[in-house]
Amino acid sequence: MNMENTKAYAAYNAQDPLSPYDFNRRNVGAHDVQIDILFCGVCHSDLHQVRDEWGGSIYPMVPGHEIVGKVLAVGAHVKNFKAGDIAGVGVMVDSCRVCKNCLNDQEQYCVEGMTGTYNGLERDGKTIAQGGYSTQIVTDEKYVLHISDKLDLRSVAPLLCAGITTYSPLRYAAVKKGMKVAIVGLGGLGHMGVKFAVSFGAEVTVISTSPAKEADAKKLGAQHFLLSTDQEQMKKHESHFDVILDAVSANHDYTKYLDLLDINGKLMVVGLPSKQPELSPFSLIKNRRSIIGSMIGGMKETQEMLDYCAEKNIVSDIEVIPIQYINEAYERMIKGDVKYRFVIDLSSLKK
Ligand code: NAP
Ligand code: ZN
Ligand code: ZN
Repeated sequence: MNMENTKAYAAYNAQDPLSPYDFNRRNVGAHDVQIDILFCGVCHSDLHQVRDEWGGSIYPMVPGHEIVGKVLAVGAHVKNFKAGDIAGVGVMVDSCRVCKNCLNDQEQYCVEGMTGTYNGLERDGKTIAQGGYSTQIVTDEKYVLHISDKLDLRSVAPLLCAGITTYSPLRYAAVKKGMKVAIVGLGGLGHMGVKFAVSFGAEVTVISTSPAKEADAKKLGAQHFLLSTDQEQMKKHESHFDVILDAVSANHDYTKYLDLLDINGKLMVVGLPSKQPELSPFSLIKNRRSIIGSMIGGMKETQEMLDYCAEKNIVSDIEVIPIQYINEAYERMIKGDVKYRFVIDLSSLKK
């Protein structure tokens, strides 16, 4: 099967706005699923990479790793998908499949490094992987997820990154009823973190730099709201929380959040600002606190999260945009002016 042209929006360098880009996906191989992309969420990681804030960006770059679409075709050996199914692709599209972490359903920690959905090379070592700001994608079925058609597909798209990235560390920290949990940064990840922590039964506090987000935090199910710029309130919450999920995109000091952790408290870090953070060892040893990083989730856990969301009716709060609005959307995301995830409607590229 020969792949027709794929339409997309790409970054050609770190400075210029994204603009139209046409390219070819690989032919549908025996184990591949070809997906007509319906919706794709806009993650802050897209922006970090488009602007080369982490270094090493590869251009042209078609970002997008919160992909939901309809299966168009499947290869001869595909067992779990058929044409017409609703399917998703998240942050990874491949991994070595044989290392201890891959064999242990933790492909995101593949010893050789997972293959990202974009801004990396596929495992042939030469094809640039391109993401979901595009009309279609071809992915090995092992890295494709089943999506329930019970939920609104536009609001499901952000679950593929923002959802799993917050679900996985909160599960790892065994968040449950009776625990005090704080979510730092009410953005795309943060608002999903609130929804999950609330659904796991915890008493949830949003810690934010934006006073205007208090009402939303409560609407999302948080019981409390703490303004991180209010020194007095921060002082009052010293040694208070069992788990703090840090989903902040900008450079910031970790110590002021560490200080809020109770005995054996855990600071779960998912935000990826470019600079090394400030950190006081004195704050770390007090209360035997720990800092734990977490990267997305494995394929099995991502499917579990999607099924959990379908069962509990959990989706992202979104603003749907046409692809032509992407550069404005980025500027608004930097200002925290989105409630709480932009989702691209790819029909805007198919006209
Ligand atoms: P986002 O929607 O832009 O949200 C980031 C939030 O950070 C903002 O809404 C804001 O919340 C807070 N913030 C911004 N500047 C701040 C500052 N100077 N100090 C404190 N808080 C600040 O971003 P996102 O898409 O949720 O992504 C968040 C981060 O997670 C990004 O760095 C992204 O690359 C990373 N990420 C990591 C993984 C992973 O696997 N670990 C996966 C996906 C994304 P308030 O207004 O409430 O303060
Ligand atoms: Zn992401
Ligand atoms: Zn591996």
